[in-house]
Amino acid sequence: MAANNWLSLQDALKVIYQQSCPVTDLQECPVYEASGRILANTLYAPMSVPGQDVSSMDGYALAVPPSVESDTFEVAATIFAGDDAGAVTLKQGQAARIMTGAGIPAAADRVVMQENTVLTDTRVKVTSWPDAGENIRSAGEDITSGDEVIKSGTRLKPEHLMLLSSLGITSITVYRKLNVALLATGDELKAPGDTLKPGQIYNSNSVGIAALLQPYHVNIIDLGIAADSQETLTRIFKEAIKNADVLISSGGVSVGDADFVKPTLQALGNIDFWKIAIKPGKPFAFGHLENCLFCGLPGNPVSAYVTTQQLVLPLIQKLQGEENRSEPLTITATLTQAIRHRPGRAEFVRAWISRDTTGNWKATPLSKQSSGVMTTVTKANAYILVAADSTGLSANDPVSVQPFSVCGDWSTFTQ
Ligand code: AMP
Ligand code: MG
Repeated sequence: MAANNWLSLQDALKVIYQQSCPVTDLQECPVYEASGRILANTLYAPMSVPGQDVSSMDGYALAVPPSVESDTFEVAATIFAGDDAGAVTLKQGQAARIMTGAGIPAAADRVVMQENTVLTDTRVKVTSWPDAGENIRSAGEDITSGDEVIKSGTRLKPEHLMLLSSLGITSITVYRKLNVALLATGDELKAPGDTLKPGQIYNSNSVGIAALLQPYHVNIIDLGIAADSQETLTRIFKEAIKNADVLISSGGVSVGDADFVKPTLQALGNIDFWKIAIKPGKPFAFGHLENCLFCGLPGNPVSAYVTTQQLVLPLIQKLQGEENRSEPLTITATLTQAIRHRPGRAEFVRAWISRDTTGNWKATPLSKQSSGVMTTVTKANAYILVAADSTGLSANDPVSVQPFSVCGDWSTFTQ
């Protein structure tokens, strides 16, 4: 337990993992639509890739005699990718003009790249000798028939889909999609596009939470905006849990007079924990409403954003049946200016990271860190992770940094 009995992020995640039971229902899914889905059955190769020895270069396949006497070969055939190389018979001392991806004729044991030859009429002279086997992709080099190709529980990425297609697979079995209900709570909220009356603000949380979930391919059930009343929340929660695996609310989870999420959760289900020692994002509630898991996010947009990344997405991943999830990527950077910090909560400081002239990472905290300021989230490319017990950091201190995205792979940093 951290200070004030608030759970640390790590302990909160432990509870979330313990409480979330992965889905077991299966769906058939076309490979073309499978990006981001979780493979349900370990997949074994129905064939080898490549299926035969093929050339990795445009050049000449050489039938080299046992004692090489000449560096000149007679060009006896031309083989394109897609041709049946079995129909080509080379004698020793002959070569076949060959294209990248074309099958190697039986008598040839190497390919010389075109750039290392000189062609005169029907004879080709080798100017730089390839070793035996060179420039040949041997049958099964990538995948051998029967190999385990992708483990069950893998989140399918574009590279997996390419592998599946190389095996001729068009459809696979995945775990079913999760149903995730989204609710914004607050009397002051209006939907973007509506006209605001004095005191009202737009609901910006729902669109962000939905977008953060988008790479995880869940069915979003947008419940819109709810008023701050226990009666309203009770009605909405009861209805939502009929269809949802997870209900995510934002707002109304703190200790204000209009905060009814927690008592509603308590009355209808149970609270596993409330409040986490992180900044932003302290008033986060996690619990159960019958079989539906509940995440009560704080209303402040940055807090809602950070808690979605750090807590909701790991929950979603676990529920979806994803295994072997990678730890969030962190790198060490040098702080360019001091960060004030009062011990108590681990802080996610919005920052800009870049390399200095010597190639080392430096991290600059952005100037507005209030949990209502979304602009600094849009301007940041990383969080500086300040430990809960830190009494502050000085310029030039080494700091741990969590980059926002790596090669477009959200899972490497959101987990
Ligand atoms: P609450 O957690 O309900 O006390 O809300 C904290 C702050 O976040 C208040 O300033 C709310 O107006 C604001 N807020 C709550 N929900 C949203 C939302 N969906 N979109 C934007 N701001 C919100
Ligand atoms: Mg509120």
